[in-house]
Amino acid sequence: MPTPPNPAALPLVPLPTLADPTDATAPHVLLVYTGGTVGMAVNAAGELAPMELSRLDGQMPELARLPLRVSLLSLPEPIDSSNVDPADWLFLAQLIGTHYAGFDGFVVLHGTDTMAYSAAALSYLLEHLGKPVVFTGAQVPVGARRSDAPRNLVTALEIAAARHPRAGTVRVPEVGVFFNDVLIRGTRAKKVESQQFAAFKSENYPPLARAGIGLYFSDKSIRRLPTAPLRVHQRLETSVAVLHLFPGITAAVVEAVLGVPGLRGCVLATYGSGNAPTAAWFTESLRQARARGVWLLNVSQCVEGRVVQGKYETSAALASLGVVGGDDITTEAAVTKLMFVLGLGLGEAHTRQLLGENLRGEITP
Ligand code: ASP
Repeated sequence: MPTPPNPAALPLVPLPTLADPTDATAPHVLLVYTGGTVGMAVNAAGELAPMELSRLDGQMPELARLPLRVSLLSLPEPIDSSNVDPADWLFLAQLIGTHYAGFDGFVVLHGTDTMAYSAAALSYLLEHLGKPVVFTGAQVPVGARRSDAPRNLVTALEIAAARHPRAGTVRVPEVGVFFNDVLIRGTRAKKVESQQFAAFKSENYPPLARAGIGLYFSDKSIRRLPTAPLRVHQRLETSVAVLHLFPGITAAVVEAVLGVPGLRGCVLATYGSGNAPTAAWFTESLRQARARGVWLLNVSQCVEGRVVQGKYETSAALASLGVVGGDDITTEAAVTKLMFVLGLGLGEAHTRQLLGENLRGEITP
């Protein structure tokens, strides 16, 4: 996205729903359109590319049956989510902060490719979140035959407006990803499928809700309402990297990644329960990176399970080198956690503590 505009200046378009737009008692959801397949059409070259809001509006007649007020806000230039970057996350966080008081919940229409990264980033940036922020999208564009967009969008809007039937309090005060009938915590989502409708998996944590004939919330898995007001963070450290290990990786590859000038943090994508080569050159590369102040976060390449540094001889040296164990965090939540925590600009001990701690439900302590 080019230079972000002032979020307060972006126009809100009320969508036709069952609710009277002037009825202040009807739940009000802000639908933020950022791009993605959900809003794409085939361009002159025969490729799928994002289309403008004007073409999206009116394509979802299902909304007319929703007893909610829905206002649509589009980013000025919708993108394929492969182009998303940390500046977009800061802008989205600011946008939600700007409209926080005026809405009951938020739905972000986003491409599926990097949705898990964006949902994790927003989870960190929106501290003490007390309202739902539900990311959704589609594998087939809205308006196309057999699109999954209406089904994903209608339920995402319902979740964003959901309240406990008796207490009347917000049901999901979290950032989540709703896709193919499953609501996943934002810091636990992983895109696992590019052809089928079930595009996301909840890694190492149960889904927060499922949609069937009704909406079934798993209240014990959902975070409690915060006791402090929302705090929108406005800094991310972007000088981070991921070093994905593979048998045969050479010293030149490891040093090229860890030696990036100005690098502040790196996710080490290790084997199994956090294991890595024990060759002296490898250990020495990590030691030198640490000595240059690079934070190393150990994340397993396995989709399930957790990092336990010291369980095997092949991970024993990592902790003493100062590598932080990532427990059962996803790579998506780890990259964005490094950006967030390093962006806070804290001292050594506090940074280490936050990197290892459960901040937004991203690890099971
Ligand atoms: N390339 C698309 C995107 O992430 C894929 C999708 O939305 O499903 O924007």
